[in-house]
Amino acid sequence: MPFANRHVRDRIKRVLLAGGVPPCGICGIDHLDLDAPQYSPNAIVVDHIVPTSEGGRDSLENSRLAGFRCNNRRNKYEGIEGVVKRPPGFNF
Ligand SMILES: [Zn+2]
Repeated sequence: MPFANRHVRDRIKRVLLAGGVPPCGICGIDHLDLDAPQYSPNAIVVDHIVPTSEGGRDSLENSRLAGFRCNNRRNKYEGIEGVVKRPPGFNF
């Protein structure tokens, strides 16, 4: 689910990046790339740990950085609470 407020999301992203680029919050692999083009697999997006559809909020506490591709896949396959369930064919 998209953030309701783009400025809130951008501010959260800056805070999360303050300590450097972390491993992907979804797959745990160090594949995030600040220079990756938007919508490419390694592009950095802000992911809701608890999806907004499940009551998660646009807050720093409910946000983590993830790869664009992982975020897309998570939206399809993963449930709440950030439990990674890798679907068949998920092969980072
Ligand atoms: Zn990832």
